[in-house]
Amino acid sequence: MSQHSNTTQSFFQGVGRNFDKAAKFTKFSSGILEQIKACNSILRVRFPVKIGDNVEVIEAYRVQHSHHKLPCKGGIRFSMEVDQDEVMALASLMTYKCAIVNVPFGGAKGGVKIDTKKYTEYELEKITRRYTTELVKKNFIGPGTDVPAPDYGTSAREMSWIVDTYTTLNPNDINAQACVTGKPVSQGGVRGRTEATGLGVFFGVREACKNEEDMQRLGLTTGVEGKKVIVQGLGNVGYHAAKYFEEGGSILVGLIEYEGAIYNESGLDLEEVVAHRKSTGSILNFPGATNIEDPSKGLEYPCDILIPAALESVINGFNADRIQAQIIGEAANGPLTPDADEIFNRKGKLVIPDIYLNAGGVTVSYFEWLKNLSHVRYGRLEKRFSENMFAEILNIIESMTNQKVSKLERKIILRGPDEVDLVYSGLEDTMIGSYQE
Ligand code: GLU
Repeated sequence: MSQHSNTTQSFFQGVGRNFDKAAKFTKFSSGILEQIKACNSILRVRFPVKIGDNVEVIEAYRVQHSHHKLPCKGGIRFSMEVDQDEVMALASLMTYKCAIVNVPFGGAKGGVKIDTKKYTEYELEKITRRYTTELVKKNFIGPGTDVPAPDYGTSAREMSWIVDTYTTLNPNDINAQACVTGKPVSQGGVRGRTEATGLGVFFGVREACKNEEDMQRLGLTTGVEGKKVIVQGLGNVGYHAAKYFEEGGSILVGLIEYEGAIYNESGLDLEEVVAHRKSTGSILNFPGATNIEDPSKGLEYPCDILIPAALESVINGFNADRIQAQIIGEAANGPLTPDADEIFNRKGKLVIPDIYLNAGGVTVSYFEWLKNLSHVRYGRLEKRFSENMFAEILNIIESMTNQKVSKLERKIILRGPDEVDLVYSGLEDTMIGSYQE
């Protein structure tokens, strides 16, 4: 059972504790709340994969937390930390995340318990394809059922294996491409999906930093410019968040990876750190920076904004008191335990929660899914069709999603021709709209 570091409470129990706290502010009966909280369907499989001369038995999961809106949506994680409790917690967070940004999906999550560093690309492909076959067999994947995406340890590459396997097994499904998001652009993905979560993190923090009252209370000036930032995790989310903070004029003072952390109060150049890590195999010993051998200590160094963008429960009841940042932006899913949350609350720090802050990924996934279902290319529309035709397309999308098309989708469909701009302006609208609601 995945546990919050140094506590006996599991990740799923921690999510439940937060849910109960929020539920007190609603008018729903206890039965309804119990239904919202419960994981609806849990798939646990063990399947054999031939690795070298050996057969390895792989443990994997897919949890559909809520079917209140279909399809279910959520990433697939490849990690040795994967267990049922973790996947249940992550699936629940997906439901709440989609609800907050008003993206019409139920929540789900998948997990495969493997150490990706132990396998060749060919072996990872075999594992991914076999996992997808299990999902197809058990009806846990499909454009209208359950639509996975990348998460920790997976990327567009794995999504391309998934869409290919699904399509092969469902040759008559005209919407097969919509069975997964975060695909390479050549396989029906949208430009901008890779950067989306990190960009959403930046938009969310930037929006929070505009609030004069909050900034004054924290002893900070408004805006992200000049603010000192520490980012934990140089994966897809952390790397892109760091990049957008740097471009936005913040000073990247600390970077944390599993091999250690580095700190330089005058600032680190992200691309130079990435190049250094590529050539030496570690972020440690970066010229001009202080080495921090114990990566978790890197969270405790002086900064204004701390962005945990790796795994859950890294800030807990045992280290929260030592965190110096005034603003904590939850880029990962569940990086703060409820204990840490309470400590920060007491101290008056500003915590920007994951279910809002990292929703950029699933928001852009929604555009990708819509695009696949509508069988159109956004960038081509403006050139080919008149305004009347646009109205027609909006009608189709309206009935497809079974709800009124938002201002945001209208913008996505009507504006062009650059897909990246469309996706980004849509993402910005969603993030900022949800922040202000
Ligand atoms: N894995 C991402 C998340 O945790 C994205 C999910 C998606 O796009 O479906 O939000």
